[in-house]
Amino acid sequence: DATVEVNGLRKRFGATRALDDMTFTVRPGVVTGFVGPNGAGKSTTMRIVVGLDRPDEGSALVGGAAYRTLKRPLTHVGALLDASALQPSRTGRDHLLWLARSQGLGPRRVDEVLGLVGLGPAARRKAGGYSLGMRQRLGIAAALLGDPPVLLFDEPFNGLDPEGIVWIRGLLRSLADGGRAVLVSSHLMSELQDVAGHLIVAGRGRVVADRDVEGLIAAA
Ligand code: ADP
Ligand code: ADP
Repeated sequence: DATVEVNGLRKRFGATRALDDMTFTVRPGVVTGFVGPNGAGKSTTMRIVVGLDRPDEGSALVGGAAYRTLKRPLTHVGALLDASALQPSRTGRDHLLWLARSQGLGPRRVDEVLGLVGLGPAARRKAGGYSLGMRQRLGIAAALLGDPPVLLFDEPFNGLDPEGIVWIRGLLRSLADGGRAVLVSSHLMSELQDVAGHLIVAGRGRVVADRDVEGLIAAA
């Protein structure tokens, strides 16, 4: 079961209330957009789902289980989170080979995901020379390695050119059409409105709107 349940998350960083009862569900088979201004708590929510941050209160469950209790978490959840560190002197493909090995996967799967994200030959260049768009594609490839049923993408449109944005919308749709749960954040509604079938609008650490958008967009 690829459902993600975010339940009453609260999180403070010092005096900042980053999350204030954040609650929503991400279902398989649709792209769920997670939109809201910078600082609304989108990244913190995603980091909690993959166990990189701990909530002060509340819980985040993937298929009914907390991430840290999953046996092979990367085969359950793939995530593109902000600024995954790249070693500048290693190639993009090296990074993926290293990640693949830690998941018991081989070079064939690496070349498969590099093809999926359109980074064939470029992946053999040193990562130090990559544009933000290329780093995003590499991060997406990393998220896809273990073919997980749940995917979280934090601001994946950043740094992509118009062609890249069209490409990623197609990728998100096909991931969801394949039955995966896909959560995609953006601070821009315009980036999500043509791709999201469900929309969570966040503001000040909580959900301010949560609805299917097919009808909404058709009516607009
Ligand atoms: P969004 O992804 O919607 O832009 P974030 O989850 O990044 O929002 O941030 C929510 C709030 O929490 C912001 O006010 C941000 O500055 C603060 N915040 C997030 N992470 C940290 C941190 N590690 N230390 C201090 N404040 C943080
Ligand atoms: P070695 O020092 O023999 O290369 P490892 O390959 O285990 O040993 O790497 C040691 C550490 O360096 C890892 O824990 C990891 O953080 C980092 N690292 C090594 N290779 C890569 C890579 N291709 N991509 C990202 N991090 C790497």
